Amino acid sequence: MIYLDHNATTFLDPHVLAAMEPILSGTLGNPSSTHRFGQAAKALLAKATKEVAAYFGVQTADVVFTSGATEALNMVIRSAPKGGHIITSSLEHIAVLEALKFTGCEVTYLDPEPGHGALSLKQIVEALTPRTSMLVVMAANNETGIKTDLDPIAAFAQERGLKLVVDGVAQLGKEPSKLPQGVTAACFSGHKIHAPTGVGVAIVRRAHRAHPLILGGPQQRGLRGGTENLAAIVGFAKALTLFPESSAPIAHLRDRFEKDLQASLNDLVIHGADQPRVCNTSHIAFLGVDGETLLMQLDLAGVAVSHGAACSSGTLEPSRVLLNMGVSRDSARSSIRFSLSRFTTEEEIERAVRIIANVVSQLRAYTYKVEN
Ligand code: PLP
Repeated sequence: MIYLDHNATTFLDPHVLAAMEPILSGTLGNPSSTHRFGQAAKALLAKATKEVAAYFGVQTADVVFTSGATEALNMVIRSAPKGGHIITSSLEHIAVLEALKFTGCEVTYLDPEPGHGALSLKQIVEALTPRTSMLVVMAANNETGIKTDLDPIAAFAQERGLKLVVDGVAQLGKEPSKLPQGVTAACFSGHKIHAPTGVGVAIVRRAHRAHPLILGGPQQRGLRGGTENLAAIVGFAKALTLFPESSAPIAHLRDRFEKDLQASLNDLVIHGADQPRVCNTSHIAFLGVDGETLLMQLDLAGVAVSHGAACSSGTLEPSRVLLNMGVSRDSARSSIRFSLSRFTTEEEIERAVRIIANVVSQLRAYTYKVEN
């Protein structure tokens, strides 16, 4: 089976597992306990916190471990002062969109400009009102890989004293993630970077004035009650050390994948191919083919991929992200997301291209037969 769905989740890196193993099987205490077992756990927690802070270029006091990015995003977004105005994009992850509903703020959801897959500073400036207090943007889109030009937005937010929340999930590990000064909060997820599920990080700078979502003990400076998930936290910190130095090898594989598919099949549209994208993501419309059928046939043929979003009523809807980017319903319906990782091999890409070309050709031939 060839796994090309790393934006959904990743496998645990064996080195991450090795770092976690002594904690899972040993006799470590609760980091809040005063005895030596507790102190040993506390030291490991402090070390992991320091490593995470150093990776993002922030203070240790800015690091809050959570259960994942959904919780982190809820915490930092729901810290918005009530009654204000928030600007975001219609392309954000559902975790952002749902959290925004509970802020008590007016929210402006911007579609990107025609032909684009990310918000621009110009659009944000145009949507600004005197009550705007927070911006929420994603560093890269999880469906298309298209990157937001974050630096000018961060500089603007800093100049205007606006809070800026960055959903960094789809970018982490693909390229360096030092946070620009104007970012007041940023959220990341363990299971997208070959660390375990059940751990995430919120980087929360003092200027964000966050309050806790999970109330309980005084852990993590009162910003997230509950005993820390130490093994997963240590795994997260370890995963940060294993990122490839350069994104070039994965980008090379992704580009080769797209080129070889284009050479094998007609009527393909690679969404966002002309825009800056993270190295591992490719979202492609196979025109004339139903994406859901294609996904199932590829699964049977040995390639695991992903297609749009299943809406709550159970009927399959084309990707909201593609539709909000201005992609036609037909094109969105025929689209499949492929996402690679550092474990994806050249041989897998070659094999995947052959399988996809076969399956798409068969489905097109069948559709052609039925229609005629
Ligand atoms: N943000 C983005 C861009 C994502 O892709 C995801 C997960 O798919 C999340 C947030 C939520 O992350 P988690 O699964 O850690 O809650």
